[in-house]
Formats: sequence, structure tokens, C-alpha cells
Amino acid sequence: MSHTEPTGRPGQLRQPLLRVTGLEKRFGENRVLRGVDLDVARGQVLALIGPSGSGKTTLLRSLNGLERPEAGVLEIGSDVRVDFADRDIRQGVLAARNRTSMVFQHYNLFPHRTVLENVIEGPVQVQRMSKQQATAEALVLLERVGLADKRDSYPFELSGGQQQRVGIVRALAMKPDLLLFDEPTSALDPELVGEVLAVIAELAAEGWTMVVVTHELAFAREVADEVVFLDGGVIVERGAPKQVFQSPREERTKQFLRRIL
Ligand code: ADP
Repeated sequence: MSHTEPTGRPGQLRQPLLRVTGLEKRFGENRVLRGVDLDVARGQVLALIGPSGSGKTTLLRSLNGLERPEAGVLEIGSDVRVDFADRDIRQGVLAARNRTSMVFQHYNLFPHRTVLENVIEGPVQVQRMSKQQATAEALVLLERVGLADKRDSYPFELSGGQQQRVGIVRALAMKPDLLLFDEPTSALDPELVGEVLAVIAELAAEGWTMVVVTHELAFAREVADEVVFLDGGVIVERGAPKQVFQSPREERTKQFLRRIL
């Protein structure tokens, strides 16, 4: 798949593409994120794991402004910086949104638009690309995930796996620097999970930078460069998949893995 920002350019390897510091988010009395610090290097694939309710989705949504934390700083590259404690963060959030694309658990496709219309919506409406150019690029992406022949179908005519592949193509069409996946396979029937994970693994191999919230630990082990374990709104442990899964350092990580493995 084409990628506008080649990875691994000299001098950029150590510089994080994404950095959040001191992220705090509460819903009423519920402190959901309690001072989260996270950085993701360009080209890195990070799997975010943890018990239900630990704040994974909230953290992911905070990275592109779908949630507004009360405190913390979000930086993307050297030119996007949002201090959530500031009163007016609109410009920063818009800039962050331009650099990130989210793939949702329930696909979130527009039900009354065709596959092609779903994919070109962002590039045409948000990025002011010509319809002709957006269509040409969308068809290349749809071809890559084996769905070019579905361009005129409506979401309800597709399987869940096909809808999610359209969801991924829609995210890619925006040419983001960072892809965010929120449990991209957890709404799928088990037999459809593989086709979606295969696409994500292919994107990882191509060097896309991504954060993936997932319950698929086998997938995380194979595809992620690093695993981050979140519990109770704090990052408890972070490391290479092999280290975290085979010899977790923290007791809470051990307990979580014992419960689900
Ligand atoms: P996870 O993705 O790890 O399952 P979430 O980030 O979805 O966790 O949720 C973390 C906590 O925040 C949960 O207690 C959840 O009930 C709460 N929460 C999430 N979204 C909202 C919301 N919009 N309003 C109120 N509480 C929320």
C-alpha cells in the first residue's frame, strides 16, 4: 500500500511520532486515565492490552480528540501540540485529527452510502481532494484488500469482515501518520477475524505506525513491536511481546495473563 511518509529515515528513528504525557480523564467521579505517558516511534506497532474498563478505548480516542482529557499534552511529530488544560484546543485537535485515522470496533460506515462513497468522503470533504483523484486512490486501496468489486455495494450487503476492511481502507485514504485501531476484530464472527488481522499485519509490515487495542494476544505477539498493559487507567508495564507475555515483571500483568490465557 502506498505510504506518503517512508519510515526509518535517518535521524528520525529515535524521535517519537506520537507522545502523550500526563493524560488525565474522568467521567464524573470515575478517574479513567490517571496520568498516562506514552510514546510511539515512527513505524512502530504498539498493542494496547488490558482488562475491560481499564481505559484502553478512552486512551485511544484521546489521541485523536474524540475524548477530551482534563489534563495532559498530546504531541504528534514536531508540529502538533495540544495541551488539554488549555481552554481552546480546537485548532490543535483538528491538526491531530488530520494526522491520525481511527478504525472502529463497529466499523462506523455510513449505512446509506456505497463502499466507494464511504472511502472518498474524508478525502473529498475534509481534505478537499477532487472526487476523481479520491476515487482513483480509493480503488487502488480497495483492490489491495480484495474489495474493488464491492465498490458500489452498501455496507449491509457485506460481511462484517468486509465492512471492517472497508473501515481500514477509509482510514488509509486519509493518508494519516498514525493508524488507531479500537478492537478492530472483536465484533466479528470468529471465522472472519483472520482476514482483518491479515490486512493489519500487512500494514504493519509496510511500516505504518499504529496503536492497536486488541484482545487478540496471539496477533499482538506476532505483529506488535511492543505491548503496553493498561490497568486502572495507568500503564503498568510495557515491553517486547515476548517479555510481557512470557516473563511479565508486574504482578498485575501476571494476574491478567493468567485469567485470559
Ligand atoms: P476499555 O477500553 O479498557 O474497556 P474504556 O476506556 O472503554 O475501557 O472505559 C474505561 C472506563 O470509562 C469504564 O469504567 C467505562 O465505563 C468508562 N467510560 C467510558 N466511556 C464513558 C462515557 N462516555 N461516559 C461515562 N463513562 C465512560
